Amino acid sequence: MGIHRVVILDGYTDEPAGLGVPPYIGTYPRLIAGAFWLYDKSIKINYYTIDEVRRDIDTFVNSALNSDLVVFIVGTEVPGRYIGGKPITLEELFRLSILLEAKKKILTGPAARYGFGRGGGFVAVSYKRLMNLFDYIVYGDPEIFIYEGLKNSFERAEPWRLRRNYDLADRAFKLGSKIVLQHPNYGWNLIVEIETFRGCPRYITGGCSFCIEPRYGAVVYRSVKGIVDEVEALYNWGVRHFRIGKQPDILAYMAVDTGKKEFPSPNPEILEKLFHGIRNVAPELKVLHIDNVNPGTIYHNREESIKALKIIVKHHTPGDVAALGIESFDEKVVKANNLKVYPDEALEVIRIINKVGSPRGWNGLPELLPGINLVYGLLGETKNTYKTNFEYLKKILDEGLMVRRINIRKVATLENTPLWMHRDTVAHLIRKHDRLYKVHRLRVMDEIDKPMLKRIVPRGTVVKYLFTEAYDGIYTIARQPASYPIVFKIRGRMELKRIISVTPIRYHSKSVIAKPVED
Ligand code: SF4
Repeated sequence: MGIHRVVILDGYTDEPAGLGVPPYIGTYPRLIAGAFWLYDKSIKINYYTIDEVRRDIDTFVNSALNSDLVVFIVGTEVPGRYIGGKPITLEELFRLSILLEAKKKILTGPAARYGFGRGGGFVAVSYKRLMNLFDYIVYGDPEIFIYEGLKNSFERAEPWRLRRNYDLADRAFKLGSKIVLQHPNYGWNLIVEIETFRGCPRYITGGCSFCIEPRYGAVVYRSVKGIVDEVEALYNWGVRHFRIGKQPDILAYMAVDTGKKEFPSPNPEILEKLFHGIRNVAPELKVLHIDNVNPGTIYHNREESIKALKIIVKHHTPGDVAALGIESFDEKVVKANNLKVYPDEALEVIRIINKVGSPRGWNGLPELLPGINLVYGLLGETKNTYKTNFEYLKKILDEGLMVRRINIRKVATLENTPLWMHRDTVAHLIRKHDRLYKVHRLRVMDEIDKPMLKRIVPRGTVVKYLFTEAYDGIYTIARQPASYPIVFKIRGRMELKRIISVTPIRYHSKSVIAKPVED
């Protein structure tokens, strides 16, 4: 079929490695747009986010009905609540696909591969249930399917094919960078998620029980040149905020002995090349952050990891977070789910990151702080798990360490993970500990998060470069474009999309009441 007009609907993505909920634009829209334009630069692409569709469904439906193909990007596998946008719901997905029944439709994104995640504590809706709604369910890499489909035919293209290298993806990323111009957050707080590799080096031991990343098999790295060229293209289109976030562990980028060791040693020389290269092509960037760091990498390769962390701090922008998938401080749970580090090892890693990253930078925030992810409902969990986890968090607080954010969530059981085999046990644990979970969460918010936030932005701090983003009752919400931005609430309704500086007045567990100040 001749393809001249394409519509991309971004229902948003959130995976263990990779975020695509506004203000973030994920990798999928850029890869998909790039694959079309690689084949034919004259293809007209209209890109819509699901929030834009909710605001004006007629424009979207008309545009889709006038197109030759509609690509749906769907899959928030890591559940969360977002200030910047609301991911597509299953009902919306059904409704929109039925409205566009006559059109050729592709489903891509994590939902095509792992089912439609419905949030922590739930079993994902199998992608098989979505099969009747779409002509093609692409559970491989979308750029390969689309490019092959255009060159040969979509009937013959293989929806399961995964990239073995980044040759095609690099070209698609570069060309597809132009799609950012159509993103509603473009021109103010848009952050572009950059991919550096795929797969988890721990695939050789099976990886964590709940995680989809090791299922990709051997790790495939993207070249420094490929990444830097993409950043340059984005920068030339006006992007100023970047997160080098689409990988399970930035310290493992091109790590020595990947595929041989479960925790390969960081490669500081290559990381220097990467971050220096990015700074070189994007000299006026405002945000350069990272995301996940595997605590096991740091614990097992202390010296090289410290070097690598220092390189990141040299080139990034302050307010950065190394999100550590600690998942549990209960040794039994660590063992039963093949997690990365034992509790005291995790504590040591938090101390190391604090040592390197706690000095404050130009925007008022510490350079680089650890974040902690804790997951509940994992195999081996008992009532004692809650007690132990709290004790460790308290220990961190009492030691005077800083942790930017503690992310507590219930595990989402996804297809193709080892946990899927135990989904009934998980569901039982989640039900059994439901009350305990709620109480624990509130206790952590009150007794840990709140004092921690006070420590990170004490009274008198001037926090710079925040965007007024939304309203919440009598407050205006302002945040930095960042990896895990602190939510500042300012009394009154300020004009949105403005850049401001603030100083804290009062602390809640997940937000800070603040007032605007002159720089
Ligand atoms: S270390 Fe565990 S959670 Fe992190 S990517 Fe690997 S398997 Fe997933």
